Amino acid sequence: MSAFFLAMLSPDFREEMTAIRQIERLGFRAADVRHIVLTHLDFDHAGGLDDFPLARVHMLRRERDEAAAQRTWLDRQRFRPQQWGTHDNWTVYPSLQGERWFGFDSVRGLEGLPPEILLVPLPGHTHGHAGIAVEGEHGSWILLTGDAYFYHREMDVERPWCTPGLRFYQTLMEKDRALRLRNQDRLRALRREHSMVEIFCSHDPHEFERLSGRTLDTPVSPAQAGGSGSLPRAASSSQGLSSTLGPSG
Ligand SMILES: [Zn+2]
Repeated sequence: MSAFFLAMLSPDFREEMTAIRQIERLGFRAADVRHIVLTHLDFDHAGGLDDFPLARVHMLRRERDEAAAQRTWLDRQRFRPQQWGTHDNWTVYPSLQGERWFGFDSVRGLEGLPPEILLVPLPGHTHGHAGIAVEGEHGSWILLTGDAYFYHREMDVERPWCTPGLRFYQTLMEKDRALRLRNQDRLRALRREHSMVEIFCSHDPHEFERLSGRTLDTPVSPAQAGGSGSLPRAASSSQGLSSTLGPSG
């Protein structure tokens, strides 16, 4: 991590909280993880990739290219090539090809994965930022929105609200403000009009605790193996690569 983000975020470095250790607690090994679907390449989402050297990593092409370009000082702090040892296993997709899905454009399935796992472009936070949708039973879906928003009340359909600290952080990190805000509008419309889609983001403790049934600082319990949690396992593992920023971040 860069000294800048270390100082700003003071992340949790307990080894038991890493994705690899939590997957092992569920009874799997690193080699069992065959696919990782990534929302974007910020250091706190890509940091665990090297623990899964055999996994194919899926993301939008624009995310890979913009991160690799290292255009600005902040880009060099947030996108860390030191974390990209799996680079040769990355599979990338164009942002402008795909189908419509609940009002979102250019949504697409992924090579080697079943059609119930979709990449949903949600640019703004980064240029190639995307959500990941996973179909559940009876027409239900979950949509991990990554860093498209940071605080659950931003998705309040009547009176969206964000803490000043998280508003500042999102403004600092945004690559395209207009697209970021438009995608937040579309996510609120999705929540209003399609209650069968459960929306959550990568960093909100309230959403995490509601969906996972455990507190933010507790590693997954082996009893949750086999899908007793409320998330399909495919989504649990993709989310598990994110470390978690507190609401004051
Ligand atoms: Zn991010």
